[in-house]
Amino acid sequence: MTIQRIQGVEPITEDDAFLEKVLEHAHIPSLMCALVHITGDADLIRGDIRPEISFFGDEQGNITEDDQAKIRALALEALKKLRDGAKLPPPPSQATVSEMVDFIVGRELSGDYGEFLHSELSLNGEDPYKPQGLDRIDDATKQDFKVLVIGGGMSGLLAGIRLQEAGIPFEIVERHQDVGGTWYQNTYPGCRVDSPNHIYSYSFRPTDWPKYYSPQNVLREYFDQVAVEHGLKRHTRFGTEVTEARFDEDTATWEVRVKTHDGHTETLRANAVISAVGQLNRPKWPDIPGQDRFQGISFHSTEWEHEHDLSGKKVIVIGTGASAFQFAPEVAKEAARVTIFQRTPPWMAPVPTYHDDVPEEMHWLLNHVPYYVKWYRFAMFWNAAEGILFAVQRDPAWGNQNNAISAENDELRQVLTDWIVELCEGDEELAAKSIPSYPPGAKRILFDNGNWIRALKRDNVDLITDPIAEITETGVVTESGARYDADVLIYGTGFQASRFLWPMKITGRGGVDLQEHWDGDPRAYLGVTIPNFPNLFLCYGPNTNIVVNGSIIFFSECEVRYILGCIRELMQRGDAALDVKQSVHDAYNKRIDEANLNMAWGAANVPTWYKNAKGRVTQNWPFSLVEFWKQTREPNPDDFEFIGPGQSAKQAASGG
Ligand code: NAP
Repeated sequence: MTIQRIQGVEPITEDDAFLEKVLEHAHIPSLMCALVHITGDADLIRGDIRPEISFFGDEQGNITEDDQAKIRALALEALKKLRDGAKLPPPPSQATVSEMVDFIVGRELSGDYGEFLHSELSLNGEDPYKPQGLDRIDDATKQDFKVLVIGGGMSGLLAGIRLQEAGIPFEIVERHQDVGGTWYQNTYPGCRVDSPNHIYSYSFRPTDWPKYYSPQNVLREYFDQVAVEHGLKRHTRFGTEVTEARFDEDTATWEVRVKTHDGHTETLRANAVISAVGQLNRPKWPDIPGQDRFQGISFHSTEWEHEHDLSGKKVIVIGTGASAFQFAPEVAKEAARVTIFQRTPPWMAPVPTYHDDVPEEMHWLLNHVPYYVKWYRFAMFWNAAEGILFAVQRDPAWGNQNNAISAENDELRQVLTDWIVELCEGDEELAAKSIPSYPPGAKRILFDNGNWIRALKRDNVDLITDPIAEITETGVVTESGARYDADVLIYGTGFQASRFLWPMKITGRGGVDLQEHWDGDPRAYLGVTIPNFPNLFLCYGPNTNIVVNGSIIFFSECEVRYILGCIRELMQRGDAALDVKQSVHDAYNKRIDEANLNMAWGAANVPTWYKNAKGRVTQNWPFSLVEFWKQTREPNPDDFEFIGPGQSAKQAASGG
């Protein structure tokens, strides 16, 4: 399968009837913005026809059918003219683009957002996250600087691409046999992306996705294709795991111990290490008494054992998080009986296109209507990410905070509750089990087209909320004493998310062991650097996960730009290493912790992988995306202590 790059500028050759037909599928707010480019007339977005943005509301922003028809008629005329040889007018001014941004997001955005959103839109075709200034560094300096990237998933490939563009030598070490990270590892049935796919792609590789939310095999293929396009596989050691990394204070370099699957070990040396190992790949097994006694087949969702035919089998599923939400309905199509054990129900949001193909007409629009793809991607970006952040922030003045933490959060709760009630179609027992009793946003809100509740309503599916007391040779016994037997037991119990970089042993300055230093409570500055671990850079590190959707690729693009900025800074100064100052790191983390306590995931008392055993939110970014974008745009040299080339790190630490 080839996952085509989206073009956006294909010539229009089709007849009027075809154009009329494809316009029926247009996203009207994006089409209106595209029309400003095509006609040069900005009055179109200054009139009464404008989208209203609501929580998981109407895709067309409540623009009436009549108004949609008016816009389609205007678009038809404009496309006909383009087809018949008309040229595009001069591009809209920056001020007009700002108006268009306000129009499509449905509100006036503060100046703060301006630069960020203009950059994200990238109307001039520039590469918005390309690290700057590396072209000023001479080749010999770059050639002397070797980078080791741990992990060939989404972030590791991105790091490789940017290092390659900059002309800096690098090697990727990947424990699996191929690239793709999470999309290589997770192969469970039903696995698909739950961020809109048009924003779940690298900014420099916009893609003509076959579905609005593509399945795992398509995503794996995408990352494979990107790796091949950039020649990254020849820079990658597959089937090789990093077991240890030690900062050599005499040379200010990293000594990295790797082990291949056949047991061969080797020591590599690098000036910098970029960890791109992700947060969600080491399975978390629950601590349920008797787990080892089960005599049937059992496995974890992330280590799916495809060799077992589940048809006609009795299957127990433990967990109702994002993974089980996707695989349990698929298992139910085959198995004789599926018994799902739910401890905490998930909130789910109505996303009717969740399993849908992108229709041919939409593919055509994205590829042919000038600027349509830019605005469509941008609308997805805004609606999915920044758009509902305000609805998961705590209002201290809001009364009882058990179910909702602000008026907006309560409004969101109502929308999501209505969705569940509608799907349950009068089954009050199911609705009562399925409506969460915690604020929306405290756990990930799952995208849904009714698939989950439909599965729960099947005759061969039972949803059990009675807590599990123990696992026996034949199945599960609950606290009330009920017994549920099964042939297969599937753990959808998540990942050891708080154990960042585990099980690698990482040793920094002064022999500091990273896991001991963190003591179960990982922190980093901007999620990227850790005091006493010079030139160790993390992608998707502590407090860089987002909850109310958006795309994690956005974070990686910001992080990698920042990391290459740090490397450029070193090269410009002629220094060997940089180490973030403890005071900078601590002040930053204080701000993160305070802000997280005021977000649904920090405020609510509900189990989540966002908090560690100490109750601190180790995973999530509590601010807006623009804030991360601004903070990671360029490293501030004042944040770091620099270690010179001839100066051992020990001397630098003692001020020598
Ligand atoms: P998860 O969200 O941590 O869910 C684990 C589930 O197991 C929860 O329902 C949890 O209940 C339950 N559980 C754990 N221990 C249990 C026990 N002892 N007894 C009963 N139930 C137990 O893990 P996940 O579903 O694998 O998802 C993790 C994250 O991966 C997601 O939040 C998301 O970020 C990512 N993900 C993304 C996608 C996607 O993009 N398509 C798909 C899958 C996963 P409690 O809720 O009560 O703890």
